[in-house]
Amino acid sequence: MNFSDVFKKLDREHLRLSLYSSTASDVEQALANPSGSLSALMALLSPAAQPFIEQMAQAAMQLTQKRFGHNINLFIPLYLSNLCANECDYCGFTMSNKIKRKTLNKIEIESEIEIIKKRGFDSVLLVSGEHETKVGIDYFSRVLPQVKKHFSHLAMEVQPLATAEYQQLIDLGLDAVMLYQETYQTNTYAKHHTRGNKKDFEYRLNSPDRLGQAGVDKMGLGVLLGLDDWRLDALMMGHHLEYLQNKYWRSKYSISLPRLRPCTGGIQPKSPITDAGLVQVICAFRLFSEQLEISLSTRESIELRNNLIPLGITHMSAGSSTQPGGYSAATKELDQFEISDERSVEEVSAMIHHKGYQAVFKDWESGWC
Ligand code: SF4
Repeated sequence: MNFSDVFKKLDREHLRLSLYSSTASDVEQALANPSGSLSALMALLSPAAQPFIEQMAQAAMQLTQKRFGHNINLFIPLYLSNLCANECDYCGFTMSNKIKRKTLNKIEIESEIEIIKKRGFDSVLLVSGEHETKVGIDYFSRVLPQVKKHFSHLAMEVQPLATAEYQQLIDLGLDAVMLYQETYQTNTYAKHHTRGNKKDFEYRLNSPDRLGQAGVDKMGLGVLLGLDDWRLDALMMGHHLEYLQNKYWRSKYSISLPRLRPCTGGIQPKSPITDAGLVQVICAFRLFSEQLEISLSTRESIELRNNLIPLGITHMSAGSSTQPGGYSAATKELDQFEISDERSVEEVSAMIHHKGYQAVFKDWESGWC
């Protein structure tokens, strides 16, 4: 059984109605006992929870500090390629965009690594567009050993792969995979993903199952908030997370909550989410899962990133470029999306320190391997 079997049995219209008819009393009950409860998560994501945001924030802050201390893990994306064989109308890399395409070779990857290491990072996220033949398993299995030599934590955000391919990459040192469903609303998914392998909603939906079967150390889920009703998408992601945590309990989990941002040829959000809405989602997930890692990207503004730190965030990107070769030879036309927080790594670290937190560049050391 995969998550798609569970998903098919979920009555999403019933969930939507229940979400929007949650009451203040449901929220109070949820706040009293939020851990691991999908009905509590529903109440905390509902419009009825808006007057309780301050209370949710206080509880989320306490839980985060209890589990993660005063630490913020910093990571940096390394964009390997902007080649993509999919059409996603919200993304700068989409197939039909007439932008210069580039895939880094060994020498170019080494130049990027050199700059990233000089900035102090020991955790890197490899990112690429989805192009099965040119940036697929053969390319990844050549690149991973080269990158892994320099970093103790290696994550990827690339196209979904088969279980055996994930196993192959885990053997080469892969620690974590981020794979975002974008939206759990099938009609909206079909509307925004019109060409290429990503059209296959179900294959993507079952990708975390394949990761769990491959035994990955950590997997990350995500929705692109704003593509469809963000409250319902967040709730569906909660269902997915609960299923995975129960079934693949050896893996760790993280979530990412990107909001739809402008890009070349981009679209407007169907369901815009305000800053207060984003705070609500972060706090609701922290209360739902104490050990869940929550990541915040440089898409968000400086002010918001500064203010969100105590509320549940555990991981942040910093000093990011969203283009292949962007650290050694930046070219504006290659960007995937616009970055809001353009501060240097030193500036982000100083802000974290100023907030009474520690910026952590190294998560763990694989001493027993
Ligand atoms: S979101 Fe991913 S798959 Fe879609 S166009 Fe962008 S890089 Fe390609």
